[in-house]
Amino acid sequence: MNKDKRTQIFSRLQAINPNPTTELHFSSPFELLIAVILSAQATDKGVNRATAGLFAQANTPQAILDLGEDGLKQHIRTIGLFNSKASNIMQTCRILVEQHGSQVPRAREALEALPGVGRKTANVVLNTAFGEPTMAVDTHIFRVSNRTRIARGKTPLAVEKALLRLVPKAFLQDAHHWLILHGRYICTARKPRCGQCPIADLCEYPDKTAAAAAPEAVPKAAPEATAAPAP
Ligand code: SF4
Repeated sequence: MNKDKRTQIFSRLQAINPNPTTELHFSSPFELLIAVILSAQATDKGVNRATAGLFAQANTPQAILDLGEDGLKQHIRTIGLFNSKASNIMQTCRILVEQHGSQVPRAREALEALPGVGRKTANVVLNTAFGEPTMAVDTHIFRVSNRTRIARGKTPLAVEKALLRLVPKAFLQDAHHWLILHGRYICTARKPRCGQCPIADLCEYPDKTAAAAAPEAVPKAAPEATAAPAP
């Protein structure tokens, strides 16, 4: 795919949704960090339901430490893997208090050193809390990037690096939100809705479908899907 096509694709996605963001509810980098840790293999809606009560009671590292692990579990027990997530969050809060002055660090290395925080979570926090032009490659971005030929790669990291190199600079900050939304609502895994796709004439996927169903409305926020990558 050439540069002109990539520019046209992101221009169209931007016109459809000029200010994309996450569907996770948060009001500080710390709240976002906790929400993203909880969102692994969970829906954003489920995480929001749990964090509404949790953050009302405790939305700083020290406050969560004061809740205790059992107190934290009471708030998040509806979320999958809540036992291990609670353990990771307690350890993360302790490190934030002891090593980072209770603040979420803005450096990738420091973020990835926190229990429960991998590269994708660090990318979400760096992008959405701190405005860094990172690419949190989830299953949707991995699929859309490869199908369209916007940026191809065999692993999420390869796609992340290709996107950082190939997405025009003007679109880098919001690109991952647009690609997630496109993958979730239009370029879906099993049956892409090529018949309703706003970038169909630019996409280089050789097996386009003529989808019969009308597309669902595309929301203004990009959910942070966390499933394993699939082509
Ligand atoms: S044309 Fe089809 S395969 Fe290409 S981006 Fe659109 S939905 Fe996906």
